Amino acid sequence: MTEPGLIVIGSGPAGVSAAEAFRAHNSDAPVRILTADPALPYARPPLSKEYLRGETDDVAQHPEQWYDQRSIKLIAGVCVDSIDLQTRCVIAGDTHFGYRAVVLACGAAPAKLQIPGGQAAMQLRSLTDAQRLRHAAKDADTAVVIGAGFIGCEAATSLARQGVAVTLVAPQAAPQEKRLGAEAGWQLRQLVADAGVRYVGEVSVEEIVDRKVRLNNGVTIDSDLILAATGVRPRTELAETAGLDIKNARVVVGADMQTSAPDVYAAGDVALAHNTAAGRAVAVEHWQDAVDQGAIAGASSAGANANWDAVPGFWTTIGDTTLKYRAWGDGYRHSRLLERGGGFTVWYEADGKAVGVLTCNADDDYELGGDLIKAGDPVPVAMSR
Ligand SMILES: Cc1cc2nc3c(=O)[nH]c(=O)nc-3n(C[C@H](O)[C@H](O)[C@H](O)COP(=O)(O)OP(=O)(O)OC[C@H]3O[C@@H](n4cnc5c(N)ncnc54)[C@H](O)[C@@H]3O)c2cc1C
Repeated sequence: MTEPGLIVIGSGPAGVSAAEAFRAHNSDAPVRILTADPALPYARPPLSKEYLRGETDDVAQHPEQWYDQRSIKLIAGVCVDSIDLQTRCVIAGDTHFGYRAVVLACGAAPAKLQIPGGQAAMQLRSLTDAQRLRHAAKDADTAVVIGAGFIGCEAATSLARQGVAVTLVAPQAAPQEKRLGAEAGWQLRQLVADAGVRYVGEVSVEEIVDRKVRLNNGVTIDSDLILAATGVRPRTELAETAGLDIKNARVVVGADMQTSAPDVYAAGDVALAHNTAAGRAVAVEHWQDAVDQGAIAGASSAGANANWDAVPGFWTTIGDTTLKYRAWGDGYRHSRLLERGGGFTVWYEADGKAVGVLTCNADDDYELGGDLIKAGDPVPVAMSR
């Protein structure tokens, strides 16, 4: 058994920032990151953008020496099998890692495409996935991207930029209409069209046979490359077998990222964390929130006081256009789009309070929106009812 210290499971943003924050509060105890991913920890956001377009190969979160300088031991290519709460150890193969505290930062895995032939579609989560996709794009004339969430929209427009003729297929008439409202959805639809992508909405894929994607409207699309961007599933298996509280398919944690078990924390995509400003638990799948939650888990596990109160948010780039979004993300009652010079703002409101803002070339609204949402103040415009 190894000397007990902090064990972090996962080398995404939540895991790396948990290790960094723990070390900032405790310079002595061993800190280990165990991760199934064989690569030096990297950023995922460029994988559907600059990396996929071949504009960069440099996606490392930190250079290798960054970990050595902080005495953070990175143990890559190791899959954790279980956590034993009684003996306080994390088990990976034959090795038992004793822990003083453990942070579950296992993230999420792409949801499987549950249709006949679904396994023929590529997926995009890891650097290895992105390498395969970028390689396949070199030989492809045509591509079908299934799913028009942000990753689907970004990947489709990046592939189109590479000269591939891309069809983006999704169930809604416009991308993310259900989540962001029809007005925002049609803006997204225009952005993907401007980037050279053909959007086919109100369809579902029934099967994939011999590189042919058959839609439920009877149309079949021949494609050299098929990418499924159909959402993710939080990786809660370790938490479930350890008997931790799970809700809405995520590990339940307080605002300090502590799970239902002593000295066991969770952060990032795998967690359902309480947000003190929202006054409720909020599920997020964003890079910066994973960094923030990881930092709180690392500080809390070192005995410091830290609580999550940030308004979640992310930026996305579709073609040449960057959109910025901040929201609690658990719904709204009314929304209103306002044209801004060269861009737009969509305000989201529930019960008379601002709960979200989506902006394009309107950074002042993005900043204002963050403040209003956090304070629970009304949106600054009359809403269409
Ligand atoms: C292509 C792409 C583009 C994105 N773009 C954006 C963007 O523009 N903006 C934004 O805000 N968000 C974006 N995201 C989402 C963002 O990357 C995630 O929200 C973030 O990575 C979540 O961080 P995490 O640390 O919780 O988990 P992850 O980054 O998923 O890391 C989880 C880690 O846990 C490891 N692991 C899992 N199970 C085990 C186990 N049993 N044993 C050992 N290791 C294990 C995995 O190997 C991995 O290292 C994007 C995601 C993708 C895939």
